[in-house]
Order: sequence, then C-alpha cells, then structure tokens
Amino acid sequence: MPSYTAPTRDARFIINEMLDLAGYADLPGFEAASVDVTDAVINEGGKFCAEVLAPLNQSGDQEGCTRHEDGSVTTPKGFKEAFDQFREAGWGTLSQPEEFGGQGMPHVLGFAFEEFVSSANQAFGMYPGLTNGAVSALLAKGSQEQKEKYLPKMISNEWTGTMNLTEPHCGTDLGMIRTKAEPQADGSYSITGTKIFISAGEHDMAENIIHLVLAKTPGAPDSSKGISLFVVPKFLVGDDGSIGERNGVVCGSIEHKMGIHGNATCVLNYDGAKGWLVGEENKGLAAMFIMMNAARLGVGVQGLSQAEVAYQNAVAYALDRRQGRALTGPAEPEAQADPIFVHPDVRRMLMDAKAFTEGMRALCLWGALQVDLTHKAKTEEEREQADMLIGLLTPVIKGYGTDKGYEVATNMQQVFGGHGYIEEWGMSQFVRDARIAQIYEGTNGVQAMDLCGRKLAQKGGAAIQAFFKVVGDDIADAKGDNTLAPMAEALEKALGQQQAATMWFMQNAMQNPNHLGAGAHHYMHIMGIVTLGWMWLRMAKVAQAALAAGGEDKAFYEGKVATARYYMDRYLPDAGALRRKLEAGSESLMALDEDAFATAA
Ligand SMILES: Cc1cc2nc3c(=O)[nH]c(=O)nc-3n(C[C@H](O)[C@H](O)[C@H](O)COP(=O)(O)OP(=O)(O)OC[C@H]3O[C@@H](n4cnc5c(N)ncnc54)[C@H](O)[C@@H]3O)c2cc1C
Repeated sequence: MPSYTAPTRDARFIINEMLDLAGYADLPGFEAASVDVTDAVINEGGKFCAEVLAPLNQSGDQEGCTRHEDGSVTTPKGFKEAFDQFREAGWGTLSQPEEFGGQGMPHVLGFAFEEFVSSANQAFGMYPGLTNGAVSALLAKGSQEQKEKYLPKMISNEWTGTMNLTEPHCGTDLGMIRTKAEPQADGSYSITGTKIFISAGEHDMAENIIHLVLAKTPGAPDSSKGISLFVVPKFLVGDDGSIGERNGVVCGSIEHKMGIHGNATCVLNYDGAKGWLVGEENKGLAAMFIMMNAARLGVGVQGLSQAEVAYQNAVAYALDRRQGRALTGPAEPEAQADPIFVHPDVRRMLMDAKAFTEGMRALCLWGALQVDLTHKAKTEEEREQADMLIGLLTPVIKGYGTDKGYEVATNMQQVFGGHGYIEEWGMSQFVRDARIAQIYEGTNGVQAMDLCGRKLAQKGGAAIQAFFKVVGDDIADAKGDNTLAPMAEALEKALGQQQAATMWFMQNAMQNPNHLGAGAHHYMHIMGIVTLGWMWLRMAKVAQAALAAGGEDKAFYEGKVATARYYMDRYLPDAGALRRKLEAGSESLMALDEDAFATAA
C-alpha cells in the first residue's frame, strides 16, 4: 500500500523563510499567523491528512461512489466519517473570512493545507475544494442576504458547494448553454436543464448542497453575454437558516471515469428547481470566473499534490529495489545487486520530480500570498501589482503545473518498472488521478489561450512587463553572490527566451492569429519553466544565507542549493527549444486539410 507523509519541513521553509509570512504581521489577518501558529497549522494539518485521509485513498479508488435508485449517492466507506472529523476540526474555515465564521488566516496557510489534503486523497479533497470555489463566488457577487443565508454553513462545511457550467453539448464554449431560468412572481427563478460532469454534485457527507448554476433568462443574448448565475440549494433554506423541502434537482447518474473515483461526478437534472440570481442578469460568466480563478489555483495545487505523493513513494521504492550495479562499480558489493537509486536514469527521474515539486510548492504558496496582497496590501500600487501578477500566473499555475504534475506522476510510476503498472502499488492511481487536472477548470489548451490571448495583452502588456521586472530585479540582485551568480545567469538566458517569444507574438500574431494558437502551449511552458526557475533562485538565496549563518539543518539547505543548480542545468534549457517551436509559427501545423487526416485505404 502506498504511503504519504506531508512535506511539512519544506512548506515551513517556504512560508517562514522564503515568503517571510511573519513579516506581513501589520496586514489584517496576518497578525495571527506568527511562526508558531503557522508551524502548528502545518504540522497538525499534515498529520490529519496523513493519518485520516491517506488511508482512505486506495480503498476509495477501488470502491468508488454508488448512486441509488432515488438519485441519492453514497461515498466510499470512511469518507463521511473523515469529513465529520474534517468539519469538527474546522479545517475548512482556515482562510475564510471571520465575518462568516472563518478564521481569517492568510490564504498561504489554506493552500499549504490544500496540497496535503489533495496528496493524501484528491477525490476527498474535491468536496471541500469545490465548496471553497462556491464560497468565493458568493462572497464576491452574492447579496448580503445570500451571504448570510449560505456562507456560514458552507464555510463550516455543514453544507458543501458545487459549480455547474458544463452541459452535454458544451464545456469550453459556455455561450451555448441551454439551461433556462424563468423569473417567478416571488423574485426567484425556475431552473430547468441538464448539467453534466458536476463534481461533488450529490453525496451523503453534508446535510445540504449549494449548487451554483449558469443558466439563461428568457430573451437573453444566445451567447456568453446572456449567461446568468444562480444559487440553487438541494434543500430549500428557510429565512432562519432551517432546512426546508427538497428542491427540483436530482442526480440522474454518476460517471464511470479514469480516476478520482471517490468523488461523485454527476449528471444533475434540474426540473423547475427554485434558484436565485447571484449578481446581475447576463453577468454570470464574470461571476463564475471569480469562482473559476480560485478553483484554477486549487487545480494547479492538485498537479503538485499527485507529483508529490508519487515522488515520495518512488524514492522509497528506489532505495529498496535492487537491480544491476552502479556504472562506477558496485555500491554495495556484499549484496547481490545495488538499489536502483544508484542508476543515473532513475536519479534523473527522481531529481526532475524533486525539482518540480519543491519549485511548484514555492510557486503555489507565493501565488496564495499574492491573492491576499491583492486585497490586503497597504498601498494601491502594491495591491495592483499583486493582482496583475496572480492574474497573469493563474493559467501558468493551472496549465503548466498540471501538465508537469502528470508527467512527474508518470515518471514516478516508471521508477517502479512493471510494478508501477499493477494497481496494488498505488502508482497507477496517482497517474489516473493526476490526469483530470489537465482537463477540468478549462482545459490546459484553454489556459494557454487565456495566458497568450488575454493576459499578455491586458493593460497594454503591463502585467507581463511587471513580471519581467520582478524576475529581472531578483536576477540582478543574485549576480552579486558567487554561489548564486551562475544560477542567475542561467535564469537570465531563459528569461531572454521568454522575452523573445513574447516579442515574436507581438510581431506576428496580429497578422495571423493562428500563430498565437499554435504557440500558446509552448509559451505557457516557457513561462512555467522560467517562473519555477525564479522560485528556485529565491529558495537558493535563502538557503545559501542559512548555510552562511551556520545554523542547524545543514543538509536541508545544501539540498536546496544543489536542487536549484539541477533545475538551472536541466529545466531551463528547454525554454530555448520551446521558443524555437513557437517561432515556427502555424504554417506546417495548419497546412493539411481534413482529407489528409483520413486513414488511407
Ligand atoms: C471528472 C470531471 C469533473 C468535472 N467537474 C466539473 C464541474 O464540477 N463542473 C463543471 O461545470 N464542469 C466539470 N467538468 C467539465 C470540464 O470542465 C470540461 O470537461 C472541460 O472544461 C472541457 O469541456 P468539454 O469536455 O466539453 O471539451 P470541449 O470543450 O469539447 O473541448 C474538446 C477539446 O477541444 C479543445 N478546445 C475547445 N475549444 C477550444 C478553443 N477555443 N481553443 C483551443 N482549443 C479548444 C479543448 O482544449 C479540448 O482539447 C468536469 C469534467 C470531468 C471529466
């Protein structure tokens, strides 16, 4: 059976040392996040996930969810009890606003915990995860009455939330949705239509489920400009918060899918269900985007989470499994063979995984800090800077983070040889679970287009210029240090590749938009490579300073500097190759017509 230990030392390094969270103590909510509190949350959170959630991961995968004839759904054995424990310990309240019963702690802590939850049991983590997304949308766009009615119970996890966008004929192109919302005399709407693939859409873990649903009102434009957002509870809620009668939404079926079997992916049939408008009519997509942005960062964390748990198991296996001899001569001559850990090709896979997971963790937690600074930083300028950077990097965290997370999970399966392909070792589940993160919350192709088609050009390119400046400043600063200078120079070259790719888009994409579409995926990966390189430079700087100070934990800090070097040697060169692919443009990619794709007779 696979195992999981939360990487608490690394999370504490990033939060306390790299981000210096305690240094923001004069901002609201941060005053409570002292180093002691942070350490306690990280350590206890990690323990909870490893001890309560991880043991249910493999059994949840094997058992899956069961739909009954009345449309009710039972989650795998142990999930309900684990969710009771999750709720009672208040884990879902960590970073939620105090006004509605949350603890108001920085998002950095909430994100660190989310990674542990997802590594331990991704399918389980999606029940509270989607609730967080629904809470974000209601916080941003709900009326005061809606907030008071729904948020306290959602934040306490007595109720959970869902997001309902997808319909059978449309997933990416939401302008085509057909679900109807007819206004009623009492101010509510009657919602009718079919939504598919709704995660956590029906289950037995909470007393109510609050669905956020996209639908069109009569006469609304039949495009993305005619979409409105509605809150539709599974059980109607009285003015005093009491649970009332069952609403007209039922689970028609659950999908049999590749992974995340413990999460119920539902077809939801709305048949005159009572719903209430959230925000303004026809402005639903913008409201949903708030929820999706929060969710996209969460999905990026899922990419990291499966890479991490797969990596931990692969390291243990590589140290234990004996095959062949080290190329430089037997490492353990007394044994019949050496551990596979000695083989450079195995080490390549493990180092790739280590460099990705630690770099990605730093990026996710840095991103979570930007989410807080967007609202809480002292000056307008700082708030705007944080908002621009996290807006720009959200598709990178989601798209690059999950592409790479899946690749790493697959490589960790490879470390197991044939045993990785056998279900009992658990590696196959990590690969299967990781795969969905590339698809939902906007496919990674859509993330790449969001980055290149929208975010690069926003405000005349202000966000990308701000990114180039912060990375460039850190490079310039690091060049003054003998150990860091070679890393800074390598990162500077990769950043130069990204700048050249940006320029190529500016000069070529206007005249032929297919050039943008053909290169967007490559650009997203170049930016992911550069951004993780930036994180590694920052981590190496902190680690180097700790080594110079001569304190404890020497091996940990030396590991950081060595892994930073590996990252610069082995990841950054790909930026140049990707830039060349991008600059090949779209001609050869779009050259053939559909006849050429038909299989020859
Ligand atoms: C397990 C699971 C859970 C899910 N959970 C939810 C949920 O909770 N709520 C919810 O609403 N939905 C959910 N989804 C739906 C998911 O978000 C969609 O499947 C996804 O957005 C893609 O939509 P689609 O499947 O219709 O694919 P399509 O939109 O048909 O896309 C097919 C392919 O075409 C590409 N493509 C489409 N349009 C463009 C374009 N303009 N430019 C470039 N490429 C394009 C896509 O990238 C993709 O590769 C879930 C799906 C799954 C499988």
